[in-house]
Amino acid sequence: MRKIECISVFDMLKVGVGPSSSHTLGPWRASQRWIDELKKKEIFNEVEAIHIDLYGSLSLTGKGHATDIATILGLCGHDPVTMDIDIINPEIDKIRETGKLSLNAERTIDFSIKDDVKFNKNFLEFHPNGMTFRATLKNGKKTSSSFYSIGGGFVVKKERKNASKKIKSFMEFPFSIEKATELLEYCDAEDKTISEIVLENEKSLRSEKEIDDGLRDIWKVMLESMYIGCHTEGTLPGGLNVKRRSFEMHQRLIGDEKYDSPESWITAIRRTEVKFRQILKWVSCFAISVNEVNASLGRVVTAPTNGSAGTLPSVMMYYMVIENHEATFKDLKRFMLVAGEIGSLFKKGATISAAMGGCQAEIGVSSAMAAGGLTELLGGSPAQVLMAAEIAMEHHLGLTCDPIGGLVQVPCIERNAMGAIKAINAAEIALESDATKAKVPLDKVIATMWDTAKDMNSKYKETSEGGLAVKVNLSDC
Ligand code: SF4
Repeated sequence: MRKIECISVFDMLKVGVGPSSSHTLGPWRASQRWIDELKKKEIFNEVEAIHIDLYGSLSLTGKGHATDIATILGLCGHDPVTMDIDIINPEIDKIRETGKLSLNAERTIDFSIKDDVKFNKNFLEFHPNGMTFRATLKNGKKTSSSFYSIGGGFVVKKERKNASKKIKSFMEFPFSIEKATELLEYCDAEDKTISEIVLENEKSLRSEKEIDDGLRDIWKVMLESMYIGCHTEGTLPGGLNVKRRSFEMHQRLIGDEKYDSPESWITAIRRTEVKFRQILKWVSCFAISVNEVNASLGRVVTAPTNGSAGTLPSVMMYYMVIENHEATFKDLKRFMLVAGEIGSLFKKGATISAAMGGCQAEIGVSSAMAAGGLTELLGGSPAQVLMAAEIAMEHHLGLTCDPIGGLVQVPCIERNAMGAIKAINAAEIALESDATKAKVPLDKVIATMWDTAKDMNSKYKETSEGGLAVKVNLSDC
């Protein structure tokens, strides 16, 4: 029997803390898993000292991506979904000042952020995002464990080919999907839309009420991240002096409209005069706002990564405030189910890790996800949905990852706006096309993206050793 990884929409869309899913959320989760390991081995209470080694891309861009902070917060027992983000900096400052860390909020040990988190430039063999946790026990014995953050907040311990076996243990979905062609066959055979097929798979994991509650939570965080971004002035942290742009952009767009909550904000936007230029500006504003929140260690939804967290929400907002003022949760649900499935096709057939595939794996995939979701909402057939996803990725192929200063700011924030606009464009082209005659099937573009990823020089894969990251002088910023 063929073994196909079961990836839920809740694996692709996760609530987390910025700025990066692979460099912040993943390492944070790895710390939590290591604490669990220590407990299972019944040596948690014996730990006297801890040392963290970050390797490869986690080291090269780890400072800008707050990888050190994320691992420490995980060791302290904080969870990225529930932690009050306002206490992150005070918590880290306290550890820095006292030299003490509260392990899983249970035991205090000595810990020096400067000496006990090491950024190693060498790469571990299996994956560019490697990290090793080391502990010294009271009896002098040492223990260690390595983890790999493979993108989108996913963390594994072993090789890629074995890693997928860890996820959901290969439990069977009613509709096992590895390739887009299989998804299309199920839609044809069952006379269902893509979201209906994906919903059947999700229902094998949890009740429909749990699915709805989970997706409502996801949307709430997406909407709040746009709202917060559009209402926050100032400069982003990290030293690049990047000014937050969505605040003033939003002020000019919203004008004198009144509102007092994220929900009434949506209605207020619908009342504004929207011409073509304003559409482009609104979509850009939504996308930029999310990624400004992400860049300042705010709460966003990983979709499929934190660096690309703005694309999906901005396209969903486009649908709600431009295309369909009567949009309901049912529409959001369909959008997210389709988007999640398209993201999972890329994860299975290629990668959603910039350290493996450059920015095509982040912004490219998010754009394809958004294009597919929007196309279904606009009445596209399953074939047109897949065609839209294909078009969106086709025009991101080869996109490099070269964040200046290792910060998820330049070019990352604007790239989300580009990904969103391309997604809308891809949906419109697909809707005007006979998708049964598409020259480039989605599966082929996924395979091409993976080949391109493998051929890409490592300096363009989230190392900040090439592209804009070396061409732009930090001291000029
Ligand atoms: S350049 Fe793209 S892939 Fe790289 S950190 Fe920025 S958004 Fe992520």
